[in-house]
Amino acid sequence: MKNLKEGFFNEDIFEHLKSKSVVFSLPEFQLSDLIKLLLHLNIITKLEDEQKGHYFIPYALPSYNEPVSVEETNAKPLLIVWREEKSEEILPVPTGLFPLTIVHLLNQKECVTKISPSTSEYYKFRDAISLKITFTQKHTLHLINRYTHIEVYFTGPTQHCPLVRKLLTTAIDDSSDAMHLKHNYVNAFACPSKRNSCYCIVGFSKDVHFINCTVCCESATISNDHWAWFESGPIVSRNATQTKQVKDHDTSDQNLLLDKKPQKSDLLRLFKSSAAHYMIIGTALDVKVDDLPPYPGAATNNLILVFKRWIDSDNDVTWRNILEVCEDYLEDLGKVKADLKGFLSSDKARNKYL
Ligand SMILES: [Zn+2]
Repeated sequence: MKNLKEGFFNEDIFEHLKSKSVVFSLPEFQLSDLIKLLLHLNIITKLEDEQKGHYFIPYALPSYNEPVSVEETNAKPLLIVWREEKSEEILPVPTGLFPLTIVHLLNQKECVTKISPSTSEYYKFRDAISLKITFTQKHTLHLINRYTHIEVYFTGPTQHCPLVRKLLTTAIDDSSDAMHLKHNYVNAFACPSKRNSCYCIVGFSKDVHFINCTVCCESATISNDHWAWFESGPIVSRNATQTKQVKDHDTSDQNLLLDKKPQKSDLLRLFKSSAAHYMIIGTALDVKVDDLPPYPGAATNNLILVFKRWIDSDNDVTWRNILEVCEDYLEDLGKVKADLKGFLSSDKARNKYL
């Protein structure tokens, strides 16, 4: 129990819980099932060779009380800001999202990510945490929940920043999906004008990145130390607007993306408004549809099943295929096609699938 304040625990913690809650003493209660469930939900992560416990649960950590800050890093910190899409109002970081994102990061398989040692230069709070992330060498990723945004510091060479951003984006997207939240967050930088509450929000259009200040009349100037988070070419300064040119093989990026396997969550989001056409979609994708209940209330569920069957079929499960289906049935799926093309050319899609 004593290490729980540091987020660590062992299976025997549930022995202790038996005396507190009747649920845990029922004969049906299987400890292994509970652990599996908590792992599956990304509420806990399993640790290898950690003296203090076999599992880590960031929810058990205290919040930071003292101010937290990180020394200068090569790349300026990246900010993740939640924003109402239409009104552009800045929203608080969704409650509960931060610890879930941490566990998603620890559980991802693309890069080795571990909890930092318990020493003073590393943070271990439920709202500020330092992780060790290994590329060729070990580097530190500090994540701080400032409640109006998440601040991201990476101590390693800037060449790794785009990948770090991609891992983080995936972790936030997966956590948002698990919590049924909108993906209404944007990347930003602290405004160099030091104006209170001004964010330099990063946008992407016509193959270039640019920033827009939320408060300043004219957007501030952003240095190379910021753009390191966004892979691709040198910065081109055009008048007051700052842009970053995307590498030439951008169209080949597009092609690569079209060959990737879509995730059900993205398909559902893009097609939900056209769920009534599940029969067309399913037939065009060559999956069984004649057993689906025909009443209108079942359309969304049927659409989910259609996509599940398609993904399970492993039959040309690519963005290219589903885009072709939209083109073949433009009359019914024209709007979806437009949304789909928009999504596929977005930074979000690039970060998630490439
Ligand atoms: Zn500004």
